Amino acid sequence: MPKIAKLETFTNAYVCFVKLTTDTGDVGWGQTSTYHADITATVFHRQVAPWVLGRSALDVDALIDLVEEREHKFPGSYRCRALAGLDTAMWDLRGKLEGKPVVELIGGKPGFLRAYASSMKRDITPEAEAARFVRLRDEKGFDAFKWRVGAECGRDIDEWPGRTEAVIPTVARALGDGIAKLVDGNSGFSPARAIEVGHMLEAEGISHFEEPCPYWKLEQTKQVTDALSLDVTGGEQDCEIGIWERMIEMRAVDVLQPDIMYMGGLSRTLRVCRLGEAAGLPVTPHSANLSLVTMCTMHMLGAIPNAGKYLEFSIEGDDYYPWQDGLFLGDPFAIDAGRAKIPDAPGWGVEINPAWLDKAVRQVSEAEQ
Ligand SMILES: [Mg+2]
Repeated sequence: MPKIAKLETFTNAYVCFVKLTTDTGDVGWGQTSTYHADITATVFHRQVAPWVLGRSALDVDALIDLVEEREHKFPGSYRCRALAGLDTAMWDLRGKLEGKPVVELIGGKPGFLRAYASSMKRDITPEAEAARFVRLRDEKGFDAFKWRVGAECGRDIDEWPGRTEAVIPTVARALGDGIAKLVDGNSGFSPARAIEVGHMLEAEGISHFEEPCPYWKLEQTKQVTDALSLDVTGGEQDCEIGIWERMIEMRAVDVLQPDIMYMGGLSRTLRVCRLGEAAGLPVTPHSANLSLVTMCTMHMLGAIPNAGKYLEFSIEGDDYYPWQDGLFLGDPFAIDAGRAKIPDAPGWGVEINPAWLDKAVRQVSEAEQ
């Protein structure tokens, strides 16, 4: 049984890749969650690596549980963001040792996945959003799109007056029939306003209303879910299993949206998927940028029985997320006829760009000899 001999991180302010090396010299690559990745790397070396060095490099669930228990005074986001780096490096290693893509390790198959084009912009006019969606529909073949309404944690105050009332019909009508239409409220509304907006969405054929109310107010979200016929969705910020259990038991949402990196990796996210499966709820994960999170999500959606209708696929490029540039070799996120391709190469099936790694800050935790 190979043991974890060395854990290295390669970090800038946005991204932290993790390289796991075993005592047999085998290597797996993972990533922690994005943004403030330098802080996450510190958590990784202080509160994750010391517990797992010298232990089996193959039993992901056991090590995830071990770190959670040893660091039980530090629940929450940063511990999970750092754990994701360990988890995803361990899955990549296992895939490489067995010569299989991760999707196969968890019971699925590589191949094509329907993607929805996901806008990250609110500082965009309804007309400009509609124009770029129509272009993506015609050029890349996307048949599903998500755009933004309200304002982030906006307490019913819009991004600018009237934007929500304008952007709903402008974008929906420009896209036309035969296109799945999704919107995201990013915790922007009270229940009363969310229900009012929800009726506008239903009138324009929108089928998915994400995070209408402050996400930590599950009762508010449930009021909206109960009042509307379209799918109310959420959960991207949540990383505690107890909250997921409550969310599912009370039917706060119709669709679960865990983020693999916010959750602490694939293994903990699969636990949420299984809770959803038992309750008959689909999973449409949050994967809002083109770092490793979207690739991990592709492998997971190719395997779980309660996969939602599509993969979230960010359409933002260098103008908005310049930090995504040059992370990987080749073009792992190519879109063909509105679909992304789950690779068939071992592990995650991506190669991190050596030139990016050369410019990153490197830190090492090593098992004592
Ligand atoms: Mg969202």
